[in-house]
Amino acid sequence: NTMQSFVYASRAQRVVFGPGSLGGLAAELDTLGLRRALVLCTPPQRAQAERVAALLGGPRVAGIFDQAVMHVPIEIARQAQQVARELGADCAVAVGGGSTIGLGKAIALDSRLPVIAVPTTYAGSEMTPIYGITEAGLKKTGKDDRVLPRCVVYDPELSLSLPVTLSVTSGINAIAHAAEGLYARDGNPIMDLMAQEGIRALARALPAIQAEADGARLLQARSDALYGAWLCGAVLGSVGMALHHKLCHTLGGSFNLPHAEVHTVVLPHALAYNAAATPQAMERIAAALGAPAAPAGVFDLANSLGAPTALRDIGMREQDLDRACDIALQTPYPNPRPLERAALRALLQNAYDGARP
Ligand code: NAD
Repeated sequence: NTMQSFVYASRAQRVVFGPGSLGGLAAELDTLGLRRALVLCTPPQRAQAERVAALLGGPRVAGIFDQAVMHVPIEIARQAQQVARELGADCAVAVGGGSTIGLGKAIALDSRLPVIAVPTTYAGSEMTPIYGITEAGLKKTGKDDRVLPRCVVYDPELSLSLPVTLSVTSGINAIAHAAEGLYARDGNPIMDLMAQEGIRALARALPAIQAEADGARLLQARSDALYGAWLCGAVLGSVGMALHHKLCHTLGGSFNLPHAEVHTVVLPHALAYNAAATPQAMERIAAALGAPAAPAGVFDLANSLGAPTALRDIGMREQDLDRACDIALQTPYPNPRPLERAALRALLQNAYDGARP
């Protein structure tokens, strides 16, 4: 293989990783010259946010805003921004998954308050300049360096409470970023390394998490999974995604299907669609999974861990498949294999039925 030409751009982000690393969060804020944080969380993660606030210590905390929800409704973003203003916050500390970090990004977009992320799922939003805001039922996404978290503190202890089923689907959501990164039009060898290592780490960790390994082994698995999620998130933030992410955006947005589960169900089929056009990426994904083939490898991983493998089992209706296909074809985007209606419709049917690719 000869070396291809490529462009690689690094981003200014500081990553602090490891069990107990949350204890260093206050020092991270101090280093950045940040004095009063608004801590963000979802309602069920309020207790975790309070722990973070306690670790930061009184004067560094402006308050806690616990109303983060999926897809960042603009009303919530405005409300959070107003609270930040009233409390004199100079940064947002987002403790949670993609929904909470997404709220931090929405605040940053308007107010320029820097975001510090403390991720508790494997979605990877903390490593990307991508934001999404939902207004009048429509989710608008964009890219802006202002929303990229300045510092990310990955403490695997915070992910111990992530339910096993969500851990598995969130982990496969992360694998999807790496898998599509391996055939990205604007990919590069550095991102390929991160993608392969990310898939390897998650494929190793998820079975141990699902088997509820004990004590030290569980913390090791949680560390491996979060490490993998970081790498996969970095790939998502650096190179262009293709068919799989577009399909999941359509299915999640237009048919209100749960984010991580849609990714889990669709990925084997999106990879099968692109397999013949991207043999080298497929080899790398398969090798990282330790499976003979990428599409079946992802399917078997999900299936063996008890994750959903069929759209029909996560709330999709069969009569909506034609419309999903239409929407997916509406706006063209780069994909290794051209978008062909019949093949795309077959992909959706296979994903609906949960057929093993
Ligand atoms: P999420 O943030 O919606 O979290 C799902 C649920 O799990 C929430 O109720 C949350 O409070 C709970 N939870 C999270 N971590 C927990 C923990 N450790 N213990 C107990 N409960 C926990 O789910 P997600 O999959 O992380 O994020 C999905 C959203 O993020 C979607 O809206 C998606 O579009 C967005 N996203 C954006 C990007 C980006 O780059 N902008 C990347 C990935 C995902």
